[in-house]
Amino acid sequence: MRDNDFTKILGWPGYRVYQSEIDEKGKTLRLWVRRKRGNRKLICSGCGRKFTDAHDYREREVRDLPWGEYRTTVVIEVYRVCCPNCGVKVEKVPQLPSKAPFSKRFEEAVGGACESASVRQVARQFKLAASTVRAIDLRYLERWKVTRRKIPLKEMGVDEIYLGKTMKFITVVSNLESTEPVWFGQDRKQETLDEFFQTQLSAMQRKRLESVCVDMWQPFTNSIQQWAGNCQIVYDKFHVLQHANRAIDEVRRAEFFRKGGSMRGVVKGKRWLLLTRWVNLDSKKRQQLNELFALNRRVMKAYLLKESLERLWTYRYEGAMLRYLQSWIDQLRWQRLVPFQNLARMLLDHLDGILNYCRTKVRFGVVEAINSNIKSLLRRGRGYKNLRYLLLKAQRMAATKTEFIVLKKAA
Ligand SMILES: [Zn+2]
Repeated sequence: MRDNDFTKILGWPGYRVYQSEIDEKGKTLRLWVRRKRGNRKLICSGCGRKFTDAHDYREREVRDLPWGEYRTTVVIEVYRVCCPNCGVKVEKVPQLPSKAPFSKRFEEAVGGACESASVRQVARQFKLAASTVRAIDLRYLERWKVTRRKIPLKEMGVDEIYLGKTMKFITVVSNLESTEPVWFGQDRKQETLDEFFQTQLSAMQRKRLESVCVDMWQPFTNSIQQWAGNCQIVYDKFHVLQHANRAIDEVRRAEFFRKGGSMRGVVKGKRWLLLTRWVNLDSKKRQQLNELFALNRRVMKAYLLKESLERLWTYRYEGAMLRYLQSWIDQLRWQRLVPFQNLARMLLDHLDGILNYCRTKVRFGVVEAINSNIKSLLRRGRGYKNLRYLLLKAQRMAATKTEFIVLKKAA
């Protein structure tokens, strides 16, 4: 094959192949490329200034897309320019997006694969180390991010997610309009959210905030009141029901585990059932739950209390919502369900923010969706020590609505 044909197949605009080497045994292809004769415009990679004269050049080796079975390496002549702003600086080459030894389109292939498969799967597919795949994916996402339109933050969501033993909790701020997370912060203190308001929003942007959907967590409320006093705080259904689930769990533990023996066997593995809504259970699961209820009325009562609490958000008038909440709390009398009494107290303490649901239009369910997206990323990704990477990944997921390919283990 002539160099001209190699040039055509390679298809790097402005570059031609002047030497090639095929290793049939090792299944590798090496191509040496340099600028085509007419291609003389050099751009400083530091400031973007244009030059016609080069200072010097050196060779760089990058991995490009494979040609059939052949793993392809391109050796490219890269010039340096003598820039008055930056000094001696390497030129900007569109095919080389970073200092890493990969071409742009190779990185795009890897990044694209990472959208629908785990890092481990992609690493196997491209025969790369997992850490390399992560680094490529991160650069791919950073480049995508630059090209995106920014949607102003008017409806904000604040949530916390537990990342595991080493990372502990992170605070997730999201834009409920664009339905994506916009910022992650380590920990869930008042200072954490303060940092968001300080570093991510101008005074003007803080003033434009209309509402915030948040958990009944005092540090967050304090921060919001300090930085965005005009904005309406709404304690949303998702978070309130999380507290209700925690209350059920406490009742379950108190009722069964301390009793030990045969009782423990019956409830084993039923935790998930108790935390799932009745409508989402099939008949077999409902049967299991009914068996559990037959053994313990108190657990049943706790379950019914949570189910009925959900109806609170079907009311669109404050008065009706308040009446419903009052009747719900009345049901607790004589039940001696301490975790639910605590929950009731918490709801009363945050009454205003709960009733704000009737006064402000908020997109419910978005916080929950973002939360579960992040959790599914965490389940598949393993080890997001880099919060920036996790954030970009979650944003990309929200923007493209991609589903992960779930590979089931063979039985
Ligand atoms: Zn420059």
